[in-house]
Amino acid sequence: MPADFPDFRLGNVLATSFTGTLSERHGNAVERVPTPRRLIDWLAVYGLAVDSCTAAQLDLARELRESIHAAATAAATRDALPPSAVQVINDRSAQGRAAAILTPEGKRQWRLSSASVEDALSVIAADAISVIAGERDGKLALCASPTCRAAFFDTSQSRTRRWCDMNTCGNRQKKARFNANQRKNSRSAD
Ligand SMILES: [Zn+2]
Repeated sequence: MPADFPDFRLGNVLATSFTGTLSERHGNAVERVPTPRRLIDWLAVYGLAVDSCTAAQLDLARELRESIHAAATAAATRDALPPSAVQVINDRSAQGRAAAILTPEGKRQWRLSSASVEDALSVIAADAISVIAGERDGKLALCASPTCRAAFFDTSQSRTRRWCDMNTCGNRQKKARFNANQRKNSRSAD
């Protein structure tokens, strides 16, 4: 039953939404693609439908995910990119094959040449490369939540976004601040 699995956090940027399938890396980590089936489901949401996924392919996906996370974190903090992460991203980008397709409505879609996980991962790796290389309009930043610290791509006009996800990390922070204020207020009322 899908209800047994953690929900997906769906963002607008493919590569950082993918790294968001593991959340709370510095707290109680939540694995949002715990099974090959869930990876298939996640890929389908992003227009990367694959026929099947083995446990080994899920491992490959997670290795790419953590490599993107490491490289994006380094880019956000202006540190040197970890060579092993760069290697994995480049290997995944080179191994799969996908073609950009223009729909009659003027939208871009991906056509995976063999509908394999490797093809889908090559699209995600290429997306990560364009983000980390600074080719896209936006800025890599780290989530302000201390239990999260996810690298996200800030496309806000002012580039001052603080949380990877407003509905989760942003809300939690707001609630924590609210509760702290409540406690302060009730103390000063004593
Ligand atoms: Zn966050």
